[in-house]
Amino acid sequence: MQPILDIQLARPATLTDAALLLASEGGRLVAGGTDLLANMRRGITSPTILIDLTAAAGFAAVEPHHGQWRLGAGVTLATLSRHAELARTLPALAQAAAAVAGPALRSAATLGGNLCQDTRCVYYNQSAWWRAALGGCLKLGGDTCHVAPQGRRCHAAYEGDLAAALLAYEAEVEIVGIEGTYRRPLAELYRDDGAAHLTLRPGELVAAVHLRAGLPGRASGFRKVSARGAMDFPLASVAVVLRLDGGVLAELSVGISGTHSQPLHLEGCHTLLGRPVDAALLEALGKLVSQQVRPMRSTVTAANHRRRVAAASARRLLQQLAAA
Ligand SMILES: Cc1cc2nc3c(=O)[nH]c(=O)nc-3n(C[C@H](O)[C@H](O)[C@H](O)COP(=O)(O)OP(=O)(O)OC[C@H]3O[C@@H](n4cnc5c(N)ncnc54)[C@H](O)[C@@H]3O)c2cc1C
Ligand code: SF4
Repeated sequence: MQPILDIQLARPATLTDAALLLASEGGRLVAGGTDLLANMRRGITSPTILIDLTAAAGFAAVEPHHGQWRLGAGVTLATLSRHAELARTLPALAQAAAAVAGPALRSAATLGGNLCQDTRCVYYNQSAWWRAALGGCLKLGGDTCHVAPQGRRCHAAYEGDLAAALLAYEAEVEIVGIEGTYRRPLAELYRDDGAAHLTLRPGELVAAVHLRAGLPGRASGFRKVSARGAMDFPLASVAVVLRLDGGVLAELSVGISGTHSQPLHLEGCHTLLGRPVDAALLEALGKLVSQQVRPMRSTVTAANHRRRVAAASARRLLQQLAAA
């Protein structure tokens, strides 16, 4: 780990001022700093101006908004995990927030930082001298990917837990930039490229997340599997949202994180609707997941294990939620 030197700290009063600063050279947002500062101390990134958004009004607010929730990107994961109304109406989100690291980290870490955290790889999240011994890699300081040496892209995995839940709830992100504010589906915040997994343009930041308040009859839950039982990134995180009607599946949405450079909103769930939740349906869901989850060996755990963990997690969640 190396010291962090020569940093300016800016504390703009509005998100638009922050966007202007962000567009300038060397500017980088800092929220809880739990991901960014570790990467700075490893020499992975070296911003010269850190832009702190805590002075921007409403940035950490959690508020109902026209039948939806508007969650300010600055809200901490501790707040999300303890918010009684969110836990009642959107349990997968509260469970995902509670599953991130430990209590001290969650009290600083934010929703926006979780969604925008860097991708991770066993060859990348290392000290500068460790990486230099391998000659760097395609993502930083080298020209080869050690995970897929024949390829020309980075397969580092996005391992944020909250995106799985928010994709299952079909959330949208509110983006503020120098040209204004707009909303887009959360899935469009990401692309499947470990070296550039966010689609934000220069000067853009995530201001808030919007999602529908829980609907009557809907059930949802989150499940995370990691190599260690506590304080660990996911091998796979899965969230399921469903509704049963007359004993058959009337609605199903599945979000998955930790397996690819972008979190996934499972495709093809509509093909399972109209069927009872029995062994055949659970197997069909497992197959859908296995077809779409194809991790690369970017962690110390075998890629196929992460794929099987994702499929088993989705099956178990669906079974538990349907039984409840
Ligand atoms: C020991 C340890 C364990 C961890 N375990 C987990 C885990 O189990 N699950 C998990 O999901 N994460 C985990 N993390 C990663 C990280 O702590 C969390 O993802 C956290 O939520 C990041 O939020 P932050 O506010 O601290 O982000 P920061 O570190 O402040 O920022 C992260 C990145 O997002 C950018 N950013 C921040 N806010 C915004 C915004 N509003 N708009 C656009 N860009 C923004 C920053 O510029 C930076 O690039 C762990 C980290 C550590 C150190
Ligand atoms: S996947 Fe390849 S290019 Fe990406 S961080 Fe890992 S080794 Fe580097």
